[in-house]
Amino acid sequence: MSQDAQSLYSCKLCNEVLKKTQMTICCLSRYCESCITDYVKANSKQCPSCQKTISDGSIRADTHFDSLIALNLPKHVQVKAEPENPKSDESVVSYLIMIDDGFYKQKLYLETGNHLESRFN
Ligand SMILES: [Zn+2]
Ligand SMILES: [Zn+2]
Repeated sequence: MSQDAQSLYSCKLCNEVLKKTQMTICCLSRYCESCITDYVKANSKQCPSCQKTISDGSIRADTHFDSLIALNLPKHVQVKAEPENPKSDESVVSYLIMIDDGFYKQKLYLETGNHLESRFN
């Protein structure tokens, strides 16, 4: 990964890859939710980048950017979650599908009170 890509996805406060991205409306800077919340509390509601006053409406969650990070840095996101056993991209995907499938079956089971087999046979 290039330096540019790294900094694009980094929080300007903690220099880590963004977690729960929040974007300031004043200067369109992105920070982790916890970083900007703490900063604003500690610094009389000033934007860390442009020093404008931050009000409730001047920070927005940027969930699109979170998805972008997950897409572009899947290894990074995964390594954070399981530092001892980083999975390959492929196994992460199949793992997620497996979880999804499990939830789906459980939901069906709860809704119908029956096993899948009896529903589909
Ligand atoms: Zn941060
Ligand atoms: Zn700003």
